Parts: sequence; structure tokens; C-alpha cells
Amino acid sequence: MLPKLKPYKTPIYLDHAATTYLDPLVEKAMRPFWQKIYGNPSGLYRQGVEAKSAVEAARKSIASILRARTEEIIFTAGGAESVNLAILGSARGYFKRHKKRGHLIASAIEHASVLHSLKALREEGWKISLIGPDTRGFVQPNEVIKALRPDTVLVSVIFANNEVGSIQPIAQIGRRLKAENAKRKAQNLHPVLFHSDACQAAGALDLNAHKLGADLLSLNGGKIYGPKQTGLLFIKTGTILEPLIYGGGQERGLRSGTQNVAGIVGLAKALELISKKRVRENRRLIGLRNYFWKNLQSKLPDIILNGPKLDEKHSGKLKRLPNNLNFQIPGVEGESLVFYLDRYNIAIGTGSACDSGQSEPSGVLKALGLGSKAVKSSIRISLGKRTTLFQLNFFIEILPKLLASLK
Ligand SMILES: *Cc1c(COP(=O)(O)O)cnc(C)c1O
Repeated sequence: MLPKLKPYKTPIYLDHAATTYLDPLVEKAMRPFWQKIYGNPSGLYRQGVEAKSAVEAARKSIASILRARTEEIIFTAGGAESVNLAILGSARGYFKRHKKRGHLIASAIEHASVLHSLKALREEGWKISLIGPDTRGFVQPNEVIKALRPDTVLVSVIFANNEVGSIQPIAQIGRRLKAENAKRKAQNLHPVLFHSDACQAAGALDLNAHKLGADLLSLNGGKIYGPKQTGLLFIKTGTILEPLIYGGGQERGLRSGTQNVAGIVGLAKALELISKKRVRENRRLIGLRNYFWKNLQSKLPDIILNGPKLDEKHSGKLKRLPNNLNFQIPGVEGESLVFYLDRYNIAIGTGSACDSGQSEPSGVLKALGLGSKAVKSSIRISLGKRTTLFQLNFFIEILPKLLASLK
């Protein structure tokens, strides 16, 4: 019997790592571009010129946040597409030049869009190396460098992990790769490209592409209170890449197809809004998350944190996403708990929503060394802009009662 408690009056959404609602200000910015300014940005008449100038204004705004040049920003239809373009596009670019297949490196805790792109390449004869993280979810730059081969084309490391929130030392890896590339140049070897999937990081971390030392950076709207199916790929000038989608040659020929003008405007607005409030919102989320964990732990002493420690910092830098919590409740099946909590108007995740449908246990938690029992008893909670102390207190009150009734 489930406890007879009234569900919370409004939905308690704690799965912002899966996707976010659309910020009303973003929606407002997008509104003119369906009924009023609906021209094709390639058109030469006023309707087209207005649409094009909206796209270019969005590109300029995003470029300034990434400290990039405007021509280094390519719009796509989401994070997965950006990742596919980065990985498959650089492999194709290499193949076109060298007429042979090469080697790619990624961390073992990448998003499915990275891992499945690499799997597709492996099936086409490319060599793939995956670097395991330590038990807290951090990839060691040394391990990445050790895996390099003369024919390595690309290294891909997720900026912040979507399940346990671990923030990778991207700038450090970027610097090491730059030094390796200088040596490779002397040996007449082609340079290794560096891609980072920053879809989870965009809300919380500094996206300065040059400080990160990345050649390619994937971002999307659906994780930062922007529209779904919008995204971008930062492509550093000089990076050799082939397109995946052919057509009218839009986006410098790297992503053909009429641009999603409203979506692009929304993506830029979302990134502007989140970048402005980043530091303050991080502090608020850390406060709420740590309060939640401390109080839940005092009621349920046997819960076990997965991933980085909550107070872990490295020379003042965050090591875990401020909104992320992932933990085991021994003896409980995480997936069942998601369904039970839903009855009380609480939405949480078990791991990666992107693998949903497949009830496969999380590969990320396995890569951290967790056994299958521990993986299955894990849940992920990711807070967001509208998360309040009241909501979390309701959760803290209901969870122990719910667990007691399930025993
Ligand atoms: C959500 C996500 C993606 C995929 O983005 P879509 O916009 O859903 O295609 C890729 N990488 C990471 C880390 C993500 O969190």
C-alpha cells in the first residue's frame, strides 16, 4: 500500500538534465518568427533579409558568449546532431584527405550520441579507444594522451557528464593536446582534433572555446530553457570537417537546409539569459542541492552518493554540476521508484533519459565501477530554475514514507 499523502499541488520537476521547460522570455523572443518574419533567410527580398539578420544577430550573440568568431558557429537541429557532425564529419574530413581510416578516442562516460556515432564508425572499420574514468567520474588527461596514436583523428570528452555531473578537465586536456600537436607537426603528422560535448555544461560553466582549447564544441537549446531540436557546433577556424547533410549549402555548406529561424533566435536568447545569471544561479542550486542531500541523508542514512563529492572543488573550480545529484537507495529499484514518485507529482530520472525506452542499466555508473545491483538502485535528481525549497522539503518528507511502504 502506498502512503495516503496528497500529491504536491503543482508538478515537482526534478529532471532538468533530461530537458528543461521553455523560458517565457525565450518564447517571447521566438514569437515573431512564425507569422510575421517567416521568410527564407536565403531570400533576397525584405522578408528574407529580416529573417537572415535575425539569424546573424543570434550567431553574433552566441559567438560573443563563446569568445568565438561568428563564422565559427554552425546551427544544427540539436545536441545529437552537433555531436554527429563533429565526430562523423571529422572522420570523413580525414578520410577525404588521407584516403584511409584512422583512430578516435573518447571517454567511456560520453553521451549516447557520442558513443553511438563511434560505434557506427567502428562498424565501418575505424579504430576506437574508450578511456575509463576514475571511481568519482573524472577522466585523467594523462590517460587521454597515453591513448594517442599516429593515426588518431579526434579526441572527444564530455564537458560535464549528464548522469553524475562530473566536470572534466577540458582546458587541461586541450593544453596537453596542443602540445602534442606541436610535436606531431614536427613529425609531419596531421593534428588531432578535440571535441567536447558541452550540452550539460552550458547552463553552469564558462563556455570560452579558446580557453577550453577545443576545436569543436557541441551545445543545444533543450537543456538550457531554450527550444528542443535546436543546437550549434562551434568549429574553430581551420578545422577540417565534411558535412553530413547536403543541400542548398546553408551554414557555410556544413549544414544544408533552411534555417530554423525561430529556433535559432530562441537558442541565442536562452544562452544569453543563462549566461547572465550563471554565477548566482549556480550558488542557489548548490545551496538547495546540498540542503536536500543533508536532510535526506539524516532520514535515510544508508543512501550512497554516486559521482563527485558535493563539496569537491579544484583550485576554486566546480567539479560537479550544481544541479546534479545521483545516489543509490540500497534494496530499492530506481525505475520503480520513478513510477511511484510520479503518483505524487514528482518527476525524477534513473540515469540517462536519452537511453530511455531501452531499460539497459547505466553505462556511466558501470564505468565508475558500480555493480549492476548498485546501478539499478540508483536515481538521478537534477534541479532547475523553478526548483524551490518547498518542493524539496515535500520530497524529503515523502520519500522515507514511500520507501517504508514498499518494504
Ligand atoms: C541531451 C544531450 C545530448 C543530445 O542533445 P539533443 O538536443 O537531445 O539532441 C547530447 N549530449 C549531452 C551531454 C546531452 O545531455
